[in-house]
Amino acid sequence: MLLAGVFAGTAYGAPPVPQTIAFPVVGPGRFTDDYGDPRWGGWHQGNDIMSRRWQPAVAAVNGRVDLHMSSTARGTCMLYLRHASGATYVYIHLNNDLTMQNDNRGGCREGVAYPVGLKDGDFVRRGQLIGYVGDSGDADGIQPHLHFELRVGRAPTNPYEYLRRARRILFPRGPSLTEAMTITLSGRLKALENGQFAMRSASASTSLGVKYPITRRVVLTLPDDALVQRSTDAGPVGAGLRDAVVGERVTVQTTAFLPYFSYQLAAPGVLASANILLRG
Ligand SMILES: [Zn+2]
Repeated sequence: MLLAGVFAGTAYGAPPVPQTIAFPVVGPGRFTDDYGDPRWGGWHQGNDIMSRRWQPAVAAVNGRVDLHMSSTARGTCMLYLRHASGATYVYIHLNNDLTMQNDNRGGCREGVAYPVGLKDGDFVRRGQLIGYVGDSGDADGIQPHLHFELRVGRAPTNPYEYLRRARRILFPRGPSLTEAMTITLSGRLKALENGQFAMRSASASTSLGVKYPITRRVVLTLPDDALVQRSTDAGPVGAGLRDAVVGERVTVQTTAFLPYFSYQLAAPGVLASANILLRG
């Protein structure tokens, strides 16, 4: 039966890559099927995911990172993510700027192109922070984007259908699965009913120190002991959710959780509110 399964897989040409990858950019990420488009000196071997400078880039699958960081200020910061199946995901034009401007002063360094602590050869998990979006190399000066490639063995493969089916996550996780984390979301209150709190986020920051814009509807549960405050000129004061006005600005910190992928997907009701600040 096992052999039959293997042959059936081969016969139908199923590619040896996971059917569901994590979308490799957290937050803004528009893309089209630009694989195969003519490019200067050749053809486009991946899809460009248009985003913003410093946006988190995460591992699409579990695998090992192979850092390919240029040592020159304007060189290309890139990495390979190697899955056990033999599929390789390539991340190109990672960040080389120190600020939100195109200053080209950061180089392909730890804390600039990829997170502090990530080492060449590290095993990373799907959804883990592995880089920051930028415009290094021949993307210098154009809109920051992630050039994302999929290679099966050595063969370039169009990643488009995988990106279309990819799961978009709310936040990146770090290397530890045993260290609890929280996420803080700022945005606008959309609804308050049935013990749930719905908001439209504008930005996020995690307890692991990653901050980024992200526009997304997020529905959190509302435990009885959540702390609710209203910001005033004199600082935050105790408030009740009866005072909350739909449409007003809010900042919500979640309760602590272990960073499993299901939390990163943040389906309605998965995350719980711990602190809610009503901001008018
Ligand atoms: Zn490209």
